[in-house]
Amino acid sequence: MKENIDPCKSCAPPRVPVDEVADILVRQYGPWPDESESPVIDQLVWFLLSTRTTVENCEAAYAALRERFPSWDEMAEAREEELYSSLRPAGLYRSRARNLCATLLAIQNRFGSASLEALRAWPDGECEAFLLGLPGVGLKVARCVMSFGLGRPVLAVDTHIWRVTRRLGWHAFPGDAPSRPGADHLNALMPAGRDVLSLHVNLIRLGREFCPAGEPRCDVCPLGTICATGVDGFEKSRSEL
Ligand code: SF4
Repeated sequence: MKENIDPCKSCAPPRVPVDEVADILVRQYGPWPDESESPVIDQLVWFLLSTRTTVENCEAAYAALRERFPSWDEMAEAREEELYSSLRPAGLYRSRARNLCATLLAIQNRFGSASLEALRAWPDGECEAFLLGLPGVGLKVARCVMSFGLGRPVLAVDTHIWRVTRRLGWHAFPGDAPSRPGADHLNALMPAGRDVLSLHVNLIRLGREFCPAGEPRCDVCPLGTICATGVDGFEKSRSEL
């Protein structure tokens, strides 16, 4: 299916209201629970492990790390090689070990221990800038930590959300991977008071179930009657009858 990619219209207002999509997806999948009472540092380690691997492999590596190291402070002071066997299930274990040790040490140096609880009192912009300064932390991981760990109304944009929101007509930025301007544009669309965390999780679920990178299944998608691509595809198929 041809996608509308016009950089001149990258920031056009969405044809389909964010609130309407969010409500439909909550009816389809339910809301996501608030996780922000758990330690923020747990979320950071989790999301660093979750990049470029499956949920199952991420869970295996996370559980192995928790079993191997009684605390994140002990892990911060370990040699990288001591993390290798725990990280193997997630793949890229050498670079993950290097980034995890360097990140935990940087947090220890800043806050006196491997804890990010101090961020709860910081404004969004300062939280994001600090997280982005940590080794291995990119925009998606930083915003996942802010959303899941700190309970901030920030939309973390992954490749599923990038693809689905383009098809919905919420942006027209090019490329398969989210860009910083595109991610910021999508964040600016979030209505005040919206449960952005549930929208994040549910857009990913929809992307996996109905709207994959290949041919989307608009005929059975819960957004099929309102989505820009779904409606256009439906009208096109009717005109071809
Ligand atoms: S209607 Fe089609 S293009 Fe739109 S979100 Fe659903 S599957 Fe994707």
